[in-house]
Amino acid sequence: MENPVAVDLVEFLNASPTAFHAVDEAKNRLKSAGYGQLSERDDWKLEAGKKYFFTRNHSTIVAFAIGKKYIAGNGIYIIGAHTDSPCIKLKPVSKVSKGGYLEVGVQPYGGGLWHTWFDRDLAIAGRVIVRETKDGSESYSHRLIRIEEPIMRIPTLAIHLDRDVNEGFKVNKQTHLAPVLATSVKAELNKTAAGNGSVDEKTNTNQKHHPLLLQLIAAQILCEPADICDFELQACDTQKSVIGGALKEFIFSGRLDNLCMSFCSLKALIDSTSSEESLKEESGIRMVALFDHEEVGSDSAQGAGSPVTLDALSRITYSFSSDTKMLPIAIQRSYLVSADMAHALHPNYMDKHEENHQPKMHGGLVIKHNANQRYATNAVTSFLFREIAAKHNLPVQDFVVRSDMLCGSTIGPIIASGVGIRTVDVGAPQLSMHSIREMCAVDDVKHSYEHFKAFFQEFSNLDAKLTVDI
Ligand SMILES: [Zn+2]
Repeated sequence: MENPVAVDLVEFLNASPTAFHAVDEAKNRLKSAGYGQLSERDDWKLEAGKKYFFTRNHSTIVAFAIGKKYIAGNGIYIIGAHTDSPCIKLKPVSKVSKGGYLEVGVQPYGGGLWHTWFDRDLAIAGRVIVRETKDGSESYSHRLIRIEEPIMRIPTLAIHLDRDVNEGFKVNKQTHLAPVLATSVKAELNKTAAGNGSVDEKTNTNQKHHPLLLQLIAAQILCEPADICDFELQACDTQKSVIGGALKEFIFSGRLDNLCMSFCSLKALIDSTSSEESLKEESGIRMVALFDHEEVGSDSAQGAGSPVTLDALSRITYSFSSDTKMLPIAIQRSYLVSADMAHALHPNYMDKHEENHQPKMHGGLVIKHNANQRYATNAVTSFLFREIAAKHNLPVQDFVVRSDMLCGSTIGPIIASGVGIRTVDVGAPQLSMHSIREMCAVDDVKHSYEHFKAFFQEFSNLDAKLTVDI
């Protein structure tokens, strides 16, 4: 009983060790589905019935399809998710030598379950700025890089040296998290064999990072170590994402939060706009926006807290009319599904959920509520989203955090308050959120994809049937 959507998600996850790679994978899929790339640095000439996307910082991507019946001021129907996940990123000076080992200096990104990063076989991925010389003139290229071999590891301390560790494993993020890359003895031998490495006088990169690490990166992108000008790299798990469980009903993987929702929304957009007729009767715009930096609060030039959503909405609207009255009208007719993974009930920690709000695996998308606006959902936005599920016999469930516990948040309230757009917060249920290895259920991937696809296909008609502010 193979679930093709879940199989496709596993492929997406395995292609996306970092936010940069997730955007690259999304870009490739959009291009092969006929979406044209725009640059935010250019003036846009958009046409009804056409499909487009743009990236910002290569870590945020926004894709949209314009209905054939679209006119300026009509609604834009968005699913928003995020491309980043908690991880361990390399420090600007990562060269650490201690106790006869070469280590890599790292800083934690986001709120990870850091103990899960110990004793994993780790690789490295991210982006590199490379110097290129052609016909005597210098230029720089932006390249993604991925070393897939297990080149490093964060070893735990033996229990014999810390007898109380099982009472509570405490991680000092400065001193305990540095991965071991090699021993100094072997690195010295390697250096001699490689002819002392090449010292980059221009950027002094060799002073900042172990030459061994630079050699590995250079070999991967086929350049000289001296031509590596700068990079943003992170440690990654080498274990591939898989479908697992005794009944093959789960997905075991890193970064399900939130590449699972990124994938489901992207696939729903692509599939709901794939045929010639799909946009014929559409009067609105179908959009997916996948943002970087959700895990650290979304405040960056490309995060959900930036003007990127408003920029997209206004540039689209003004491509069809220069009348400035049209943007506020469009915003009030628009609707955002903020899609971010949710907490399934954990069988070993049942008291963390209250009895009326216990999201279950295979139970469909979870609509998240919070009276204090940690989630942006209200009765109107949740009704509209639930109604789509009802029409297609798709399950949905509700979540509110226990009143004696703190509540998480998402990009939902950030975009809702920043743009003034109606918003519902939803997500597929999962366990082990923010671990290096998480799990969710294959049926929920299918439910989410189908729910999102139906949202794109039917929202403009459904929305016309309910008016609140009259
Ligand atoms: Zn998330």
